[in-house]
Amino acid sequence: MIAVLMTCVRKLFSRRNPTGSRDARKFLSPQSFVVSRDTSVFWPLLMKQLIARFTILLLILTTAYAQQVFGQCKVGKDAPPYGFWSWAPQSRIKVYILSADFRDSDLAFLLKPIQNWNAVMEQTGSGVRFEYVGPTSAPLYCENCLTILRGEVYDNVKRHATELKTYSAHHDRIMSWAHIVVDPKVTNKEALTNAIAHELGHNLGLLDCYSCKPKSTVMNKFKTINVPNEMDAPTACDVAQVRTGYFEVRSSLKKVAVRGKQSAKQSEVEDGEEPVDDDTPIVIRKP
Ligand SMILES: [Zn+2]
Repeated sequence: MIAVLMTCVRKLFSRRNPTGSRDARKFLSPQSFVVSRDTSVFWPLLMKQLIARFTILLLILTTAYAQQVFGQCKVGKDAPPYGFWSWAPQSRIKVYILSADFRDSDLAFLLKPIQNWNAVMEQTGSGVRFEYVGPTSAPLYCENCLTILRGEVYDNVKRHATELKTYSAHHDRIMSWAHIVVDPKVTNKEALTNAIAHELGHNLGLLDCYSCKPKSTVMNKFKTINVPNEMDAPTACDVAQVRTGYFEVRSSLKKVAVRGKQSAKQSEVEDGEEPVDDDTPIVIRKP
């Protein structure tokens, strides 16, 4: 990369300058300015060319930096794909924990991944903030409510240890409510943290990445149930993928809003049927 940059810089400054010299040092030296016969033309021309060349140089450096930072995140290798359902951008998600399902000593381990995802909210561009409200005696179905509870999820074939149940009231993959169901087999406290960190990734649109390198993403597969995988916070690639995903979510919502306005205008002149709500919950099993 450095060699490529040096070549580009060399080429930029070796091009023919306004005085006709190919020598960059002479071109930039004070003496070369003195020998110019028409300084009123030379100076603006020189400044224009310098600005143009430094702009190109800046572009090259910016691109190189971007490649260095984001080039490491390759979907399927270091980064999970996105496209799962997600909470609405800029939403505040009320988190409840089903009190009968967890011990008091579990609380800190359940809240840790929530805090870790909140810590990168600005970087992800989602604007989604999870706020722990308190215990609940039953799963909740209110708008923007997330309940963490236990339930039989694990089977020997699929080996899923957690499950995300969710529902989209507007059928637009924006979640209205969600339940993170943790199998009773997951008792290790660190494994609980890892499981919630993974499920919150699904809550923000990330998909599983079983082919990703170990510790490159929280969306990796758990090799063994109830054994911690040391992933309690999103990685830089997770953050980058959520950011890209939410950029698409926002554009999709804008398109839907425009179509809604257009159809509203049409309905002013046409008779239509009353919409019927589909209240069938969608259950999406994820490990
Ligand atoms: Zn998963």
